[in-house]
Formats: sequence, C-alpha cells, structure tokens
Amino acid sequence: EGGISLINEGQLTVCTHLSYQPFQFERDGEIVGFDVDLVDLVAEDLGVQQEIVNTPFETITTGAAFNTDECDLAAAGMTITPERAGVIEFSEGYFDANQAILARADSDVTDEASLAGKTVAAQTGTTGLQYAEENLGDAEVITYEDLPLSLQALQNGEVDSVINDNGVLYDFAKENPDFEVKFDIDTGEEYGIAAKKGNTALIDKVNEVIGAAKEDGRYDEIYQKWFGT
Ligand code: GLN
Repeated sequence: EGGISLINEGQLTVCTHLSYQPFQFERDGEIVGFDVDLVDLVAEDLGVQQEIVNTPFETITTGAAFNTDECDLAAAGMTITPERAGVIEFSEGYFDANQAILARADSDVTDEASLAGKTVAAQTGTTGLQYAEENLGDAEVITYEDLPLSLQALQNGEVDSVINDNGVLYDFAKENPDFEVKFDIDTGEEYGIAAKKGNTALIDKVNEVIGAAKEDGRYDEIYQKWFGT
C-alpha cells in the first residue's frame, strides 16, 4: 500500500532497546509499553502484526539496524536530534521529554551544582550522557549500557545519581519511594519513530496514523494508560 514494503511479509519489524519502562519493557513475558501501543496502531493500519527486535541503542541511532534490514521501524523513546536525523528518517515528534536527575530520597542532591564531586550514571549513546558530558563537568560520569543497569547501580550504592529522560525516572520513582527525581533539566526533547533514511513512505504512514490517533482520542487513551495516576 502506498509504496510501503516491509522486510518480512505480514509483519512490521520494529527495533527497540530494552528496557525503557514505561515506553518498552517486559511484563509477564511480553513486551509492552507506550511506544508498543502506539506502533501497534501503525501495524493495525497496515494489516500486519508488530514484531519487536531488541538491539543495542546505537544500532538504531546510527542507522545500522535499518541498513542491514534488521527492522522496518524503531521506537525506543528516542530523541530526534540533527545528528541522528542525518542518518535515519524520523517521524514527527510524538512525545515531549526533558532530562532529570534521580537520587536516593534522603540524598542532598538538589541542583546541578550539588552534583560536584558526586557520581552520575548515564546511559550509553543517549542524549542524557551527552548532556552530562557537556554540562556536569564537576561530577564523575559513569556509563551503563541500559536504563536498568544504571538504576541498579544507584540502588546498590555504586553511584550517587542517575541522569536520564524524565518520563522513565518519574516512572521508577513512583514504584520505588526510596528514590526521588531531584530536579528536571529543560532540554526540550521530542521523541520520534525512525525508519531507514529515505523511507518516507513508511514514515508518512506513521505520521498519518499518529496524527489521526491524536485527533480521535486513541493517543490520549494510551497516554493515560501509561502515565495516568
Ligand atoms: N531519549 C534518549 C535518547 O534518545 C534516551 C532513549 C533511550 O535510552 N531509549 O538518547
């Protein structure tokens, strides 16, 4: 339909990087989350099933996952950046994000200055790591491959704080009251769904489906499901 061809017939193959709760994570042996529900709408529109493939985050941001035909789309709570947009095709923004700092509830972390001499866990290849490297020079930045490993490092007392997107850190703090989001950092990011550079037919379809879902209430329903109180 409309010049859309899929790498595996009858399915929409979607790369992600697990886990990034509540956007994509495993629950009862199934991969669920905000992004999963949103991309399900695209699959449904195409009359196929979404098939999720877990891959290192940088495989997505560099375009390698598309160039080796590993997946049609990627949905990974991924920020649209000019650098990434040079090598992959992005949809319009579908979710607003900022960076945030998570620490033990009883810690004295209050602002960026209070991180001086402290350790900050950041995730490989992310906008959070980039922010930390550029702006948190008085802290020691330690990188972890994924969000769960950074959160574990904080829980183990290996690090004093974690930098990551606000959505995932607030979600963690909600379930783990010993930890608190101490402050937000206004980076004004927007998440985009991605495809192989030049695959505008598929990205046009993504934009069309998400646009319709925003208008008819399905987007809000999915938002409430994962972010409602
Ligand atoms: N939004 C951040 C980025 O794009 C983190 C995404 C992620 O870790 N899945 O770098």
